[in-house]
Amino acid sequence: MKNVLVAGGGLGGTIVANRIAQKLSNEIDKGEVNVTVLDKDDKHFYQPGFLLVSMGAMEPGETHVPERSVLDRHVKFLSGDKGTMTKIDAANHSISTADGASHHYDQLVLSTGSHLQFDEIPGFTEGADTFFNLEKARDMWKKVQSFTGGKIVVDTAMLPHKCPVAPLEVTLMLDDYFRKKGIREKVQIDYCYPVPGVFGIPNVNRMMTGIFAERGINIHSQFTLASVDAGARKITSKEGESLDYDMLVSVPPHKGAQVIGDSGLGDRRNWIPTDKFTLLVKGHDDIHAMGDTTDIAISKAGSTADYESYTVSHNVAADITGTDGKKTYPGTVFCFIATGMDQATYIKFDYSHPPVPPTPSQIYWWSKLAYNKLYWSIHARTMI
Ligand SMILES: Cc1cc2nc3c(=O)[nH]c(=O)nc-3n(C[C@H](O)[C@H](O)[C@H](O)COP(=O)(O)OP(=O)(O)OC[C@H]3O[C@@H](n4cnc5c(N)ncnc54)[C@H](O)[C@@H]3O)c2cc1C
Repeated sequence: MKNVLVAGGGLGGTIVANRIAQKLSNEIDKGEVNVTVLDKDDKHFYQPGFLLVSMGAMEPGETHVPERSVLDRHVKFLSGDKGTMTKIDAANHSISTADGASHHYDQLVLSTGSHLQFDEIPGFTEGADTFFNLEKARDMWKKVQSFTGGKIVVDTAMLPHKCPVAPLEVTLMLDDYFRKKGIREKVQIDYCYPVPGVFGIPNVNRMMTGIFAERGINIHSQFTLASVDAGARKITSKEGESLDYDMLVSVPPHKGAQVIGDSGLGDRRNWIPTDKFTLLVKGHDDIHAMGDTTDIAISKAGSTADYESYTVSHNVAADITGTDGKKTYPGTVFCFIATGMDQATYIKFDYSHPPVPPTPSQIYWWSKLAYNKLYWSIHARTMI
């Protein structure tokens, strides 16, 4: 019996486990192979929905389903203490879980994601709103609806974080929301970003800087968040700039999963050193990494994990069945970018081809919403 373990059953782990099971369904039916997903949570969260929840464009209940319901019947699923990983022992090819069990693997896929570090910035928890988890996204929508005027600051504490375009999206959605409500002239919007410009990719930066200028959004860049003073409603940057706010919408610092650090598999922020083409963890030929958890200098996005899953599932199945012909990942990423409450653009790029975002339109907005709706029935189940 050969064991494939998928460590983390979020967006990437679910998709890759389904793809691996589809490729190895005969071997699984014959009892020769096991494919098992381990996750502490028995719910599957569709995190792109959190942005829409924070702006009232999606109901909170639409963002999650039971993980079992989106997994292929050939995939085993362990959650709670049975799925909570406490140590990954690469030398002995095994994972320990909180129930005291040890799980042997022949092939391991690490998809443990990126995690919010509110405590790294003094005052962040008390003073900042965010849409990066469901509970806070729900709270933010209540505040947005009751905001009648004043200063909104949108800030990104640190790079990298998941969904690099999300700060742009929330800024332009807030602008459009208050325009449609007829109170935009009473709302000042300031955008703070920790690297020069409003976004790291030149073509996107150029387009978005133009849109920000047209919409009267002030840019503060470079602005690396040092502290939040919740009482005085003021943020200060490492560069020495201070800004007052009435509402602060901020992206918190991110790190790779704690279990990665505890297992000695990560760098100083728990990102896993990963070959950007083979998606193998450096120094290991039986450990693959994908999604947010890698140290690859590419967007931490669901679409990245999805495109990577084609390479990882193919290579895992080839290793298990002993067949030749490995695949490599060309760096493909696709992201819609909301530019208002009813318009969007998109970017598609890879390691060799930079993105060229089209002029924003309603078609792309409706495509973004349609994609979100179809995620559960088609995408997570890898029907395409
Ligand atoms: C507000 C927001 C908007 C976004 N918008 C978009 C978008 O429009 N387009 C896009 O492509 N992407 C978007 N993303 C990013 C996308 O959601 C992530 O990039 C994607 O979820 C990454 O998938 P993953 O499998 O790497 O990690 P995750 O989906 O986060 O899954 C990681 C899993 O690992 C589990 N785990 C971690 N540690 C342990 C442990 N010790 N034991 C057991 N289980 C563990 C977690 O429980 C989790 O289920 C957005 C994200 C946010 C927050």
